[in-house]
Amino acid sequence: MIRIYSPYRIAPSTLLIAALLVVVSCGCHVLDPRPIPPSQQTQSPDLLALNEEPLEFGKPHKVLDTAGWIWGIPGKVMLWDRRIDNHHITEPTIEATTDYMRDNSLAHVKVRVNQYAPLKDWKRLRANKNVAWPYRYTLGLAALGGEAILPGRLFGGDHYNPFTQTVHLYSDVPAIALHELAHAKDFSRRSYPGTYGAAYLFFPTWHETVASRDVFSYLYQRQDREGIIEANRILYPAYGTYVGSGLGSVIPSQSVPLYYGTVIAGHINGRMLSRDIDEHLAEYRYLFGSGVHH
Ligand SMILES: [Zn+2]
Repeated sequence: MIRIYSPYRIAPSTLLIAALLVVVSCGCHVLDPRPIPPSQQTQSPDLLALNEEPLEFGKPHKVLDTAGWIWGIPGKVMLWDRRIDNHHITEPTIEATTDYMRDNSLAHVKVRVNQYAPLKDWKRLRANKNVAWPYRYTLGLAALGGEAILPGRLFGGDHYNPFTQTVHLYSDVPAIALHELAHAKDFSRRSYPGTYGAAYLFFPTWHETVASRDVFSYLYQRQDREGIIEANRILYPAYGTYVGSGLGSVIPSQSVPLYYGTVIAGHINGRMLSRDIDEHLAEYRYLFGSGVHH
């Protein structure tokens, strides 16, 4: 969900870059609402045949969850929200998850809520024949191995695994749950999900843009004022972690200031957008009709 760099040293020109990024962050609509077309969805029949519960929950474990909470402090600071990797997912996040899954026909997708279950995921990896086997048993196996060796139950890191079609949640933030599910929706409409997954390794910003724009589209369609404010506040700086990493790989000598500058720019940008929330909601209604489904 977010990429964290450790700040080792800050060069003099870095503050200049950071300042520049802050200046360019005044209410930019890079994540304007755009839905992923639902008509193109393909549900893996083999995953549906497993006939699993859509959501599974890890058993609360005081020591482990507390350790996970502490480990997740950098993420909490980065997105400025104490619910990041808090390993305690509550009803609003679960409701957002089930609503989105229902509204977007994601019955083939699994959501593991603070649960460690690599053996069950191995079963899903084998069954997910929508991804070509050469991808599943290389990249897919590596991804599953990573989840097994570095359990999110301790290390956190909300993510979606396209090879097992599974969303892993450790943060109690509805906007993050929607974002991960939007990745699942995006992958489900791809004819070559394995190749699309491999592309993520080189240019994740593409996938990140598609997923977050779908979340905004979903929230605007529901005219969910609070949901949009939260998404502005969380998804823009989270997006900044990817844009910042991308810029850093272009200019490696400035990777740290570019990274932090972009994240800060994301924070400012999201908050700027929320100031005009009612205007944006009215604009959406004007363009697309009321579109409220509930
Ligand atoms: Zn993402």
